[in-house]
Amino acid sequence: MTDTYSQLVNNGMGKTVATRLGLPRPATLRRYEQGQSLLEAPAAVGTVADGTSGQAARGIVVASGAEAVDATPETTYAGKLGAVVLDATAAATIDDLEQLRAILAPAVKALGKNGRVVILGTTPAEIDDVERAAVQQGLEGIMRSIGKELRAGGTANLLWLDGDAQGDAALLAAPLRFLLSSRSAYVSGQPLRVRSAQVSEADDWTRPYVGQTVVVTGAARGIGAAIAKVYARAGAHVIAVDIPAAGEALATVANEIGGTALQLDITAADAGRRIADAVAQRAEALDVIVHNAGITRDKLFVNTDADRWGSVLDVNLRAEMRIDDVLLDPSVKGGLRDGGRIVSVASTSGIGGNRGQANYAASKAGVMGMVRRLGEQLRDRQITVNAVAPGFIETEMTSKIPFATREVGRRINSLMQGGQPVDVGETIAFLSEPGSAGVTGQVLRVCGQSQLGA
Ligand code: NAD
Repeated sequence: MTDTYSQLVNNGMGKTVATRLGLPRPATLRRYEQGQSLLEAPAAVGTVADGTSGQAARGIVVASGAEAVDATPETTYAGKLGAVVLDATAAATIDDLEQLRAILAPAVKALGKNGRVVILGTTPAEIDDVERAAVQQGLEGIMRSIGKELRAGGTANLLWLDGDAQGDAALLAAPLRFLLSSRSAYVSGQPLRVRSAQVSEADDWTRPYVGQTVVVTGAARGIGAAIAKVYARAGAHVIAVDIPAAGEALATVANEIGGTALQLDITAADAGRRIADAVAQRAEALDVIVHNAGITRDKLFVNTDADRWGSVLDVNLRAEMRIDDVLLDPSVKGGLRDGGRIVSVASTSGIGGNRGQANYAASKAGVMGMVRRLGEQLRDRQITVNAVAPGFIETEMTSKIPFATREVGRRINSLMQGGQPVDVGETIAFLSEPGSAGVTGQVLRVCGQSQLGA
């Protein structure tokens, strides 16, 4: 779906008029293509107090083919920066926040187009000292505010590292690379926790899914089709699932990516078994399942009948849980292997609620509750469970929203535009990477820092 306003104010005469009138001009976001460099300009890397993760971050930046320069209060930047990474894990006193400001402000000022700010902090829930906990929580406020001030497609995000995950380049690499790269084009204003875990890094971090089998539900169109394509690009064999009525579109997607089409209604009683059977035909076990299929049946809560209520909960929540039960049974051939990944698609409606969507919000908030609990339960099997919560994404679903409501949905975020289905796909693929072993039980928003539920 096209965003006519963005096109108008970014071209020729429209650009001149918009600039004169001071109208918002959404930036054209840099998006990932195979072989693209991590950053278009150097990354400034700095450390507050005696943090140990800045050095690790610097190493990751350099190993990824980007240039790194030191960020200090005295640094004068010769040209534009592609990113700023600040290790604030050791910030413990309110005075340390002044050091953070002094390092960060000149570097943020020097950021070029599609610039990235990534702050590294210590998980506040793990801290006993009150001032240190307050200071670390303060990082979230700083990051969110910078995200709202950045222009030209810039994003700001925060990685909260557990104490035993700090200074560990293997745990940090996948999350940091994702947030620095254009794969995170529509992820801004978000904190993400990284916990200690065993990490097996892929040989080629740009194609981490070579040799893996990935199931994507609801893959015939929209976000699901985009997710399937991202996994295929990154090397996976994708089993694309959708209802029989969408069979033709499903076959087109599966053919395009050299994957397998599986016509299946995920609410069927034997859905889990049929997915496992399809996996078993080509692999020992499943590496990743992405629960993307979802429906809306909007109505004001007071007018919602049992059918509207139940059908949305059945597709968006119950079906996922039933399928996972089968795939997590170690005796099932074609089930999820230990070290495998589960990623679900939630929604910002599940965070902020939405008029006419109590059933949908119940299902999507339910998904978030599910991944938090299940992620915890499956840590001993090294299986990670996460969700993404997309905001306004340009799809057939959102093209049906009345014009004025749609325009509001598109603009009330820091990037002043809707996201593309591929932005959700990139984020899901990041969460299930081998290198993302330290990220589990979390919900990552893909919403351009939307005000909804903020
Ligand atoms: P869509 O309607 O374009 O695609 C959903 C796909 O799921 C369709 O191909 C449909 O046939 C399939 N599906 C529905 N019920 C199924 C079932 N019982 N069994 C198997 N397949 C089934 O929607 P979309 O916009 O691509 O959304 C994908 C996911 O993202 C959904 O979970 C949705 O709730 C979520 N989401 C979308 C947005 C957005 O802005 N578009 C925002 C937040 C969350």
